[in-house]
Amino acid sequence: MKKILVTGGAGFIGSHLCKKLIENGDNVICLDNFFTGRHENIEKLKKKETFQLLEHDIIEPVDIECDEIYNLACPASPVHYQYDAIKTLKTSVLGILNMLELAKKYNAKILQASTSEVYGSPLEHPQKETYWGNVNPIGIRSCYDEGKRAAETLMTDYNRQYGVKTRIIRIFNTYGPNMDPKDGRVVSNCITQALKGENITIYGDGTQTRSFCYVDDLVDGIIKMMNNKQDFTGPVNLGNPSERTVLDLAEKILELTGSNSKLEFLPLPGDDPVKRKPDISVAQRELGWKPKTDIIEGLKKTIDYFSNIMQ
Ligand code: NAD
Ligand code: UDP
Repeated sequence: MKKILVTGGAGFIGSHLCKKLIENGDNVICLDNFFTGRHENIEKLKKKETFQLLEHDIIEPVDIECDEIYNLACPASPVHYQYDAIKTLKTSVLGILNMLELAKKYNAKILQASTSEVYGSPLEHPQKETYWGNVNPIGIRSCYDEGKRAAETLMTDYNRQYGVKTRIIRIFNTYGPNMDPKDGRVVSNCITQALKGENITIYGDGTQTRSFCYVDDLVDGIIKMMNNKQDFTGPVNLGNPSERTVLDLAEKILELTGSNSKLEFLPLPGDDPVKRKPDISVAQRELGWKPKTDIIEGLKKTIDYFSNIMQ
């Protein structure tokens, strides 16, 4: 039985990951400061003997003996990561330093949840792992983008200098149950607005694109990356290459919810990437991974989740 530390385990993706690892028969320690994490996400897991919750902030050192570390702790929604930009940068940089020190001490394997944001507003499309990105170092998204880029650097240098077993994944927009209805992301906003009959907020003209991956597919890819035997350290893109405009997504949600909500066009926030689509050929080749869930199936499950929690 492996002892696995999951930071950010009470968040959206982290809670699905903890659940899957427990189902696989592992012991899980979920570390979270509950900045954006929610007890509801882990309520059922708390009853399991193989699950342990540790309320802690990863910017402070911690000593936990473990075999593997999945480092997911970091607010992911622009609204949340911009709320305290300096704290966000500390979470990425000091947080990964603390986790890498743990990995070094206990010879544990460590996986870092990086992001498609390391590509910034990409000039290469779709984005391959070899692309270095187009990132503004002083914009409103920089605390997140540059923090994640620095974390990738630290991962790579701990691997080169100390031989720490590292894995880097670059996650593209992911959605599904356990998203926080108030986190301000496009999927949660559009669904909650449609269900309440409120206006659907579209930032800009809605022609910007994203590629949305259902959370179960992502978690499958994350675990495959941690467990790959070839010592493939990444980075590897994990996302669904099916690209669509924000307008298209909103229209699908209106159709699936049967809502009469109207579209309301609002100003586009600064540095909002114009397009984003992962090239997943590395994930297919190295991990034998590709997403399986079609957008309609994934949105239906997500709409069911929001309908239930909003009752
Ligand atoms: P989330 O906000 O739901 O979860 C983040 C979790 O980290 C929360 O439980 C939060 O309380 C915890 N956390 C934040 N700061 C912390 C700190 N200093 N110490 C301890 N815990 C802390 O976000 P998510 O969507 O589940 O994202 C999880 C990870 O995946 C993040 O690292 C994020 O950057 C990355 N990611 C997510 C997406 C996406 O589309 N959801 C895309 C790219 C990358
Ligand atoms: N967006 C939108 N309406 C909303 C929330 C977001 O039009 O209510 C847009 C946002 O400007 C961006 C896209 O949807 O172009 C995805 O936003 P999200 O915050 O989900 O993720 P990210 O920008 O980090 O990819």
